[in-house]
Amino acid sequence: MPRDLAIMACTECKRRNYTTTRNKRTKPNRLEIKKFCPFEKKHTMHRETK
Ligand SMILES: [Zn+2]
Repeated sequence: MPRDLAIMACTECKRRNYTTTRNKRTKPNRLEIKKFCPFEKKHTMHRETK
């Protein structure tokens, strides 16, 4: 079975900072997590992207 790879991109600078895996069946919605953006050196919202 292939892993469901989710790429987390900063909503402010649009850079892709994190990757994570998740189960699309249990969590069908797009992930939004507050994470540290190393490019802006602050915490921003990160959203799942393709
Ligand atoms: Zn950023």
